[in-house]
Amino acid sequence: MHNVIIIGSGCAGLTAAIYAARANLKPLVIDGYEPGGQLTLTTMVENYPGFPDGILGPELIENMRKQAARFGAEFKAGAVSDVDLSRRPFMVIAGKETYECKALIVAAGASARLLGLGSERKLMGHGVSTCATCDGYFFRDKEIAVVGGGDSAMEEASFLTKFASRVNLIHRRDEFRASKIMLERARGNEKIRFVTPALVEEVLDVSKGAVEGVRIRNLETNKVSTLPAEGLFIAIGHDPNTKVFRGKLDMDANGYLITKNGTRTNVPGVFAAGDVQDHHYRQAVTAAGSGCMAALDAEKFLEARKD
Ligand code: NAP
Repeated sequence: MHNVIIIGSGCAGLTAAIYAARANLKPLVIDGYEPGGQLTLTTMVENYPGFPDGILGPELIENMRKQAARFGAEFKAGAVSDVDLSRRPFMVIAGKETYECKALIVAAGASARLLGLGSERKLMGHGVSTCATCDGYFFRDKEIAVVGGGDSAMEEASFLTKFASRVNLIHRRDEFRASKIMLERARGNEKIRFVTPALVEEVLDVSKGAVEGVRIRNLETNKVSTLPAEGLFIAIGHDPNTKVFRGKLDMDANGYLITKNGTRTNVPGVFAAGDVQDHHYRQAVTAAGSGCMAALDAEKFLEARKD
């Protein structure tokens, strides 16, 4: 029996773990499918307060993890496959293990969105990637493509120019969701070529088991053409990891958990923090902030139950 189980080990989950551990609640953190969350997939983080020269995402996460462990947080590898929130204590199933807890903090984050093409799935890990930091190295001196028009796409495209000979940035509109500074940085990079307004229709060539190009449709002219590329990076946003909570916790139409009065979900004793409940700010610092709030809310909840 645990006081608090924290589902997810990104910025939100680890901050919740630091606070819960320092409150002597001995939290159990279940890592999830992507231990460390999205920060482990980025390079330099320049906007996390306290690091005037920036800090590498994986390093920031490792520091948070050490900090939580120092105060007594316990970690388990694996992903949660089911929860029972209709009983007390709550039940959490991860792999072959079943855990019980009095309070639950959901900080399961969000995962990369895909285009939905069969060829994209088949070539994932064989030239198709959702993580420039992880896979950029494999594309030294090669021509590649990035899809998306937000900050992620700009960041990935700019980062990939360290390796690739050319980066084709494919976006379905001529307007960009990306912040001005990141868009301008990408526009100013001579290795990046903007291909807009265009839709990726197919990743080639599944029969060869490798990416050789991308079939795109120009949305202005309707012309279909093939863009040579040995790699395709998908950077079109994220979806919240809330599948196991369907029908158990209130969520919006896009699957983001709904919180009220701080981090409270509709089930008393269940709290949500970070990208799993935030589709607006999605920053490391806001995720950490809400992780802190969730731990304080959980502490208050447990305290009241004791009374
Ligand atoms: P985003 O802002 O939601 O942008 C997603 C992009 O992908 C949009 O341009 C969208 O096109 C496009 N897209 C979505 N579905 C598509 C599909 N099926 N086919 C083709 N294109 C598709 O997501 P994001 O770039 O991941 O950014 C998310 C949040 O994280 C933002 O708040 C951002 O500021 C933040 N972020 C910050 C940094 C940083 O500051 N260093 C870095 C990365 C992300 P439309 O515009 O046409 O919808």
